[in-house]
Amino acid sequence: MLNADLPWLQAPLADALARARSHALLVQGPAGVGQLELAVKLAQSWLCEDRAENQPACSHCASCKLFASGTHPDFQLLLPEALDASARESLGLPFEEAEAPKAGKAKPSREIKVEAVRNLLAFAQATSARGRAKVVVIFPAEALNGIAANALLKTLEEPSGLLRFALASHDSASLLPTIRSRCQPLPLPLPDRAAALAWLAAKGVDGAEGLLAATGGRPQQALAWHEAGLTDATWQAIPKRVARGEVAALSDWAPPRVIDVLQRLCHDLVRRSHGQPGQFFAAAALPLPKRAAPLLAWDAELRRAARHAEHPLNAGLWIEALVAQAQTAMMAAAR
Ligand SMILES: [Zn+2]
Repeated sequence: MLNADLPWLQAPLADALARARSHALLVQGPAGVGQLELAVKLAQSWLCEDRAENQPACSHCASCKLFASGTHPDFQLLLPEALDASARESLGLPFEEAEAPKAGKAKPSREIKVEAVRNLLAFAQATSARGRAKVVVIFPAEALNGIAANALLKTLEEPSGLLRFALASHDSASLLPTIRSRCQPLPLPLPDRAAALAWLAAKGVDGAEGLLAATGGRPQQALAWHEAGLTDATWQAIPKRVARGEVAALSDWAPPRVIDVLQRLCHDLVRRSHGQPGQFFAAAALPLPKRAAPLLAWDAELRRAARHAEHPLNAGLWIEALVAQAQTAMMAAAR
């Protein structure tokens, strides 16, 4: 069963179908708001054999059924190896269980490599099996490495026959300008708050308001945090625990997320020091700093640390140092 129907995507999907002037669209916007789902729904709609003009996929024609079972011959979904199984699983498409990492074997790549694009070019040149269209979805487009992106350029510019592309990106600024310029941009903004809260509530997320704010309004990320065991109470306790130098407040988080959380905390404290409410944490959860300067210096240090967040040599020590740094900055800002 295809699982790509997010309630807040209905309007952007209708808009995209009506506005599509190019054979290649680039869905762009923040992560965690359904870019992949929108690209997949576009693909299903372009392939649907029983829909009115500019209307989304009917969900019941032969093409839609093939699409939902993950066996549509005219559809290709290109993902980095590291994301392949999890993204297909969340979309309800068939996937191959990721193998347990073996010693000496390279980790699954976060890049889309040229071999994958070469396979795609064979698909691009073949005749459409059902004669309606052929659609390639690439997510996230910024995962295309330089060689892969260059191998794709010509096909993206002059696709043969019925071929269409839906690329999705949450970092479109990092795409090669030659890729960007060949696509019609399709901005996907943060969803309406009420729709996001209703969706999270339906998924059984308690304290959805706090988690939605914590993620800057990105419902899919809020759901992922909830599924990872984060509650609103745990989240709101972070500022004060960090101020006390409690490393355990963050030791359950993966290193890139630790930086991310500290950056949100720092951002909110800077806002508080200017008399504004926090954006990610509730007002009651945040101390009231007197000075912004130590926080701004801390922010710069966090940005430097973010560059090494993927592979710290010793994650435990690294988090300890970051919490100590946070505590020092918060104490200095309080004076
Ligand atoms: Zn259909």
